[in-house]
Amino acid sequence: MKLESKFDLNQKVYRISSFSKRETIVCPKCSGKKYVLGDDGTKVTCCWTGIDYVNHPAAWQIEGVLTIGLVRIQATNSSEQKVEYMCNETGVGDGRIYCEEDFFVTAEEALKECEVRNKENKDE
Ligand SMILES: [Zn+2]
Repeated sequence: MKLESKFDLNQKVYRISSFSKRETIVCPKCSGKKYVLGDDGTKVTCCWTGIDYVNHPAAWQIEGVLTIGLVRIQATNSSEQKVEYMCNETGVGDGRIYCEEDFFVTAEEALKECEVRNKENKDE
């Protein structure tokens, strides 16, 4: 029996995941200066109370680059081979566990897969 993982120890991989992003919006009245000029030219504290951020809905994006520090391959008679990884950046042995499907060698590949998965989400 030969078990194989797609990625090697110490290999750098692009991880993709689905998460929402919060983007800060600069106040449209004072451009973030926190004051506006009154008619007589004096500074008046800006009182804009609009929402100063926008939440983008969850979408597949590149989460970051990780270095593989542990490879775990599990095989049983009743299930397909399952490969899990742990990475130096997030803890090896005691940390996050990653699936092979979310790792890519290049940013281009990773972005392509993000596009595919985001399209699938929209089609649902
Ligand atoms: Zn303001």
